[in-house]
Amino acid sequence: MARMRFAALEMAYNRQAVAVATPGEKVADYFGAFTFNEDAMKTLLSPEAYVKVSNAIKAGARIDRDVADEVASALKSWAVSKGATHYTHWFQPLTGGTAEKHDAFFDLTPQGKAIEKFRGSALVQQEPDASSFPSGGLRATFEARGYTGWDPSSPAFLIDNGAGGRTLCIPSVFISYTGEALDYKTPLLRALHALDKAATNVMRYFDRDVDKVTATLGAEQEYFLVDKALYYARPDLVMAGRTVFGHAPAKGQQLEDHYFGSIPPRVNAFMVDFEYEAWKLGIPVRTRHNEVAPGQFECAPAFEELNLAIDHNALLMDLMHKVAERHNFKVLFHEKPFAGINGSGKHNNWSMLSDTGVNLLAPSSKPKETLRFLVFLMNVVKAVHDHADLLRASIASAGNEYRLGANEAPPAIVSIFLGDELVRLLETLESRGEIQLEKGDNVFYKLGITRTPPLMRDNTDRNRTSPFAFTGNKFEYRAVGSSANSASTMIVLNTIVANQLTEFKKELDARLEADEKKELAIVEILKDYYRHSKRILYQGNGYSDEWVQEAARRGLSNLASTPQALEKYKAASAIAVFEKMNVLNQREVEARYEIELENYVKKVQIESRVIGDLALNHVVSTAVKYQYRFAETAKSLMYLDLAEEAAPIKALIKEISRRVATIQQSVENMTEARKKANNVEDHAERARLYGSEVKDYFEKIRYEVDKLEMLIDDEDWPLVKYREMLFLK
Ligand code: ADP
Ligand code: MG
Repeated sequence: MARMRFAALEMAYNRQAVAVATPGEKVADYFGAFTFNEDAMKTLLSPEAYVKVSNAIKAGARIDRDVADEVASALKSWAVSKGATHYTHWFQPLTGGTAEKHDAFFDLTPQGKAIEKFRGSALVQQEPDASSFPSGGLRATFEARGYTGWDPSSPAFLIDNGAGGRTLCIPSVFISYTGEALDYKTPLLRALHALDKAATNVMRYFDRDVDKVTATLGAEQEYFLVDKALYYARPDLVMAGRTVFGHAPAKGQQLEDHYFGSIPPRVNAFMVDFEYEAWKLGIPVRTRHNEVAPGQFECAPAFEELNLAIDHNALLMDLMHKVAERHNFKVLFHEKPFAGINGSGKHNNWSMLSDTGVNLLAPSSKPKETLRFLVFLMNVVKAVHDHADLLRASIASAGNEYRLGANEAPPAIVSIFLGDELVRLLETLESRGEIQLEKGDNVFYKLGITRTPPLMRDNTDRNRTSPFAFTGNKFEYRAVGSSANSASTMIVLNTIVANQLTEFKKELDARLEADEKKELAIVEILKDYYRHSKRILYQGNGYSDEWVQEAARRGLSNLASTPQALEKYKAASAIAVFEKMNVLNQREVEARYEIELENYVKKVQIESRVIGDLALNHVVSTAVKYQYRFAETAKSLMYLDLAEEAAPIKALIKEISRRVATIQQSVENMTEARKKANNVEDHAERARLYGSEVKDYFEKIRYEVDKLEMLIDDEDWPLVKYREMLFLK
């Protein structure tokens, strides 16, 4: 078996960077060239149709049949002229990833003549054979079928089929015939609509010209790259996306020499290549750099309207997989592919933008705007405080469980970092007593917010250990897992903020009814919010043990296990907020919960099997062979009457035996635990058993295996080692 390892190492060692062809001179020349964007629509649609589609995009207006036919016809001509032969509705099922089913434009007339056809009805709606997508029982109970529907707010795009030809992808929602959401996009669009309504209403206290507020997202994507040959020599990477064994290398990330270091040439070629591909598809990737861990990298886009940003992130991940093949790499999006080495996240930078061009989370030096800023800031803080468990549930997964709350930091506690400057400002706000009404802006002077401290405008004050950090003019939700579809957590964040802003408006209106002065009433409410929510604010080191204890004292949740976190989806307060904001009804929430639980069980089950297999047929078998060689040596020494010299060898033999016995016993017990869990009907209980009884053996087995790796001759060890995967470029 070690043969495979050495063959792979030789291949990886001899690789060169793959040359990349530039698609054009300047990025601006080809950015979005493969998307049916505003420009394409303007050129290819009649002015009437263009206006109607624009309205559908901006205001969610309905598109009638005639317009759909015209758009379909233009789309088809455009796509065919660029080499497309097929089209597909492109959607995001709850399994993760994206789904597509390609249909040819080509059709036969009754006379048997080949024509290219694409009708409005096919653009607007498709019926994929989707019975194998998870529905959490929704379709089983109601209707057997689901359908996909065009989302005009995200431009259609062309993907290469690899072996020639292209496919037109139409971003779509996926719903059951009874209208229940079976995907991520449907509730996301509903949540964004709710946020728009609520935030616009609140913005109007400050500016009557505001008609729309859009949520914005810039998702920084972290990932690992591993040479393809080495990847295939690690069955655990292939099956589970992470290494279940592997001793830490002598040098890890302690020297911190990888971060922002120069990018290795092979990696650079890969990055350049996928960035070209991304730009052609209108994905605004901007930043590339090495991450903290060896072999770890990051790519960050310019922020965009949230729904689009999520489509772009999903598409980007897909592209990265495809392009990596050309460069003989495999991309690992798993949250924790290597134990003892930094994990990967997807930092969700989030804010709100008005149609008057104001970033609602940008501080200002003008007092009136500062008040507006504080209103939106504190509403987010309160929303996160009140629904911290739900926000935690929205990022719970089998992979992220290794990153959050495991024995390697960060913890699974939701807390908010605002920076000392802002906290001081809020403290002052809270501690002022009765405030007398003064004319004009004096009221702000009385509050000590005559001017915004300069630091706040350029918040370089960075706290990298906070899961939810205010970073100058946006919040950055860092606890999101690298493999996640961000929609999962963005549905929750936008829903709870929409709900909170709605509550705020109610409270403020009640005070205004009672003839309170607007600014003062706002300040009173914000003071209440601060007092109510301040326990969730934490400015210290979020990875420290102190914080875990302090958070417990403050009564904050620390939901370390995935089943435990997912349970929070079913809390009455969670269902209430989803229903109130018309984002998900109770059945839809419960279906999602079921699907997530099932995903979790499946993933842990796969890992457990991989661990069992590798432990026995790779590790134990190697150890026993190796032990035999020791035994032979010991025997010869004894034969030569060198008993004393044989003693240390005997000790080694014993050590190997002991470790092998522990491994064998643990694998057996783990298999039993799995059987026991499989027989449990109740899904939550089964997931709990997988997360505890089954998973408990993972570390135990790993510990012994990693010790054996240190003991057994490097020549014989069958699994590619950490130092080989992480440091070879
Ligand atoms: P860094 O965090 O490294 O300083 P930036 O602050 O420029 O880098 O941005 C990090 C990410 O945050 C980028 O993807 C960027 O597009 C995104 N971002 C910046 N401003 C906003 C905003 N108003 N809304 C959403 N995302 C934003
Ligand atoms: Mg960041």
